[in-house]
Amino acid sequence: MTLLSLDNRYPDEAPDAAYAFCEPRPAPAPAMQLANHDLAADLGLDPQWLRGDEAAALWTGTQLPAGTRPVALAYAGHQFGQPVPQLGDGRALILGQLTGRDGRLRDLQLKGSGPTPFSRAGDGRAALGPVLREYVVSEAMHALGIPTTRALAAATTGETIDRQFGPEPGAVLTRVAASHLRFGTFEYFAHRGDTAALQTLTDNAIDWHDPDLRALPAAERAAGLLQRVADRTAVLVSEWLRVGFIHGVMNTDNMTLSGETLDYGPCAFMDGFRPDRVFSSIDARGRYAWNQQPRIGHWNLARLAECLIPLLDDDEDTAVKRAEGILASYSTRFEACYNRVLAAKLGLIDHQDETPVASAEGSELAERFLGLMARHEADFTNSWRALAEGSPDDNRQIDAMAQWLGDDNEWRRWMADYAVCLEQAGVTESQRRARMNATNPAVIPRNHRLEMAIQAARQGDMEPTEQLLAALRSPYQPVDASQWLQTPPALDERIPATFCG
Ligand code: AMP
Ligand code: MG
Ligand code: MG
Repeated sequence: MTLLSLDNRYPDEAPDAAYAFCEPRPAPAPAMQLANHDLAADLGLDPQWLRGDEAAALWTGTQLPAGTRPVALAYAGHQFGQPVPQLGDGRALILGQLTGRDGRLRDLQLKGSGPTPFSRAGDGRAALGPVLREYVVSEAMHALGIPTTRALAAATTGETIDRQFGPEPGAVLTRVAASHLRFGTFEYFAHRGDTAALQTLTDNAIDWHDPDLRALPAAERAAGLLQRVADRTAVLVSEWLRVGFIHGVMNTDNMTLSGETLDYGPCAFMDGFRPDRVFSSIDARGRYAWNQQPRIGHWNLARLAECLIPLLDDDEDTAVKRAEGILASYSTRFEACYNRVLAAKLGLIDHQDETPVASAEGSELAERFLGLMARHEADFTNSWRALAEGSPDDNRQIDAMAQWLGDDNEWRRWMADYAVCLEQAGVTESQRRARMNATNPAVIPRNHRLEMAIQAARQGDMEPTEQLLAALRSPYQPVDASQWLQTPPALDERIPATFCG
């Protein structure tokens, strides 16, 4: 096995108070459960490090390569709108970084590897169920082409831990991320009034994510970074909406500077569409519902902007105006991204096409289609795929879809308008279908599927999880579509909410 040595940029580059050195707790009986060979190859990691006892010892934190300097990061955050000055990695450690194919560093983080100085009342552990949930959903997100942290390995520890719904096997997830800088990392230093640390963090973020901004004067660097984060957040949220994803806990400590989706706790892909759908059992007021996510993206960016005010200009009023300008650009940018998403979902443009959409007609049509779906709680994923199946002026197609969307004039008028719009845009039927099937996934990690896989894994059978992962690898071109397109078969098999753990 080639020697593995991990440098760690946090103690080398980040402000001292941003991290605490901490050793993982050894696991009594480490065992590998899942390993991501594609990702290992991207990171130049010898595949030997994913197999056998040595791999299990490494990815549970039981035996680390000599010289590894693991750290837990400090952060603050706004949780459900309330400021929390002190959070931090309560059960996670960053081991160090490897270099990705793009030449950029990626953090390797163990989640569930024991208590840290930031654990508060927590046990520092993770249960197998939530570890597999994050592994599967984050890898699904990656395959959908949406920025996300990824999963390199899942290993069990041999411990049994107590959780809300009874005892669970203990597990550790190895998470790979462009960085673990969160909006909340900046909030931590803003609470302490530590402007020097905020400047260092800004420069860390620029070095790690936006190195082209490095040469700018200090105030321009801070403004440039805020602008990039606003742009990335706009793209990210529009992409979540595209696939019916509900993050579930868009607290500022779960928002990344890199624009990657972070923290797969009570998240879900919707089955039946309701714009105000909420999945988290702790989100009683619907703050983080599907259709609230764009607004929350803006709210969260405002919290980040507040932290950066002292860096944006010596004069506070000027700094505030600058921040407001950037926040306003988020809204414009989000609208543009979402209009493109909607036009692509209807096949009017290529999803990859960066040119702005000329007319709002596509998004109006798409909004009307969403309205029809919502009226009947039609399946979010299958409705769009079904719409691609046949031409909108074909009566068989109109009748077939009327089963889910309502056999009435409103539906028929919509299809007629859609046909006219396609005709005017000069979109051919084959073009339309190809574009739609590259934008609207067929395979998503449906909750009931994921729960079935996790149940089997708890009994020691990883096969259903492996099968689910394999299907999710090609979400737009399903190998065996029929089984993965199935919606929850009966109401009592629906999983109404997901839980942290
Ligand atoms: P999350 O809801 O996953 O974003 O976590 C919120 C905070 O709680 C973070 O600071 C976590 O590190 C911490 N936390 C969650 N679970 C545990 C646990 N079992 N032990 C210690 N800290 C935890
Ligand atoms: Mg979190
Ligand atoms: Mg979490």
